[in-house]
Amino acid sequence: MQASQFGQLQELLRHWNSRLNLTRLVEADDYWIGQVFDSLWPLQPWLTAPTAELSVIDVGTGGGFPGLAIAIALPQAQLTLVDSVGRKLEAVGAMAEELGLGERVKLRCERAEKSGREKACRGRFQLALARAVAAAPVVAEYLVPLLTSTGTALLYRGQWSSDDAEQLGRAAQLLKAQVGEARALELPRGRGQRHVIPLTPQAPCPSSYPRAVGVPAKQPLGQQAST
Ligand code: SAM
Repeated sequence: MQASQFGQLQELLRHWNSRLNLTRLVEADDYWIGQVFDSLWPLQPWLTAPTAELSVIDVGTGGGFPGLAIAIALPQAQLTLVDSVGRKLEAVGAMAEELGLGERVKLRCERAEKSGREKACRGRFQLALARAVAAAPVVAEYLVPLLTSTGTALLYRGQWSSDDAEQLGRAAQLLKAQVGEARALELPRGRGQRHVIPLTPQAPCPSSYPRAVGVPAKQPLGQQAST
C-alpha cells in the first residue's frame, strides 16, 4: 500500500511539475533517495516505534516534502503543511487528495511567523520540521513555538559544523529549548551528507517569538552582534 502510494506520488509530481516548477527531484534516485529517503530517515525513532497519534507540522513544505512522504509512511499521523506560496500548496493539496490523504493532511497558506502566533498552531504539535527552508536559527524560531511541551523539532540540514551548533545553541537558549545530539547520515549513491538536529522545549517559548514576518531571517537569533 505505502510502496504503491510512493509510486503514485512520483506520478503526481511529474504531472504537477509540468505545470509549475515544484522540484528538480522527480526521477529515479533523485526521487527515491533525494525525496523519499531523505524525508524519512530523520523520522527513524517514530517509524520504528509508532505512537497511536502524532501531530506533525512541516514548515516550508514547497512541493510537499518531507510532509507528504511522512503522511504516507506514518498512517497514524495528522499533518499540517505550511507554505507561503499558494500555487505550490494547491498542487500539494491536489496530490494529497489523489493519494487518499485529504483527511489527514491540512494546508496553511501563510508565513511560518504567522502560524507560530495562531491559536490553532502554537503549542500544538508533537513534531515540527523543516527541510531546506532557512538557516538553522531562523528555522528554530519558526518551529519551537509550534511544539507541545513534550514535542520535538527536527531541523533537516546538509553540512553541520561546530560554529552552526554554537549559533543554534544561542538561539535555542532564547527560545527556551535545548539542542539535542545531531545525527549524521551519508545518503546512498554518493548523494551527500545529511544531518538532523533535534530541539526540545525546556519551558514555554517566550511570547515574543516568532518575531514579525521577515524579522527572523533578517536578524537570526543567536548572531553575536544582534542579540
Ligand atoms: N521543504 C521543501 C523541500 O525540502 O523540498 C521545500 C524547500 S523550498 C527550497 C523552501 C520553501 O519554504 C519554499 O516553498 C518557500 O515558499 C517556503 N518558505 C520559506 N520561508 C517561509 C516562511 N517564513 N513561511 C512559509 N514558507 C516559507
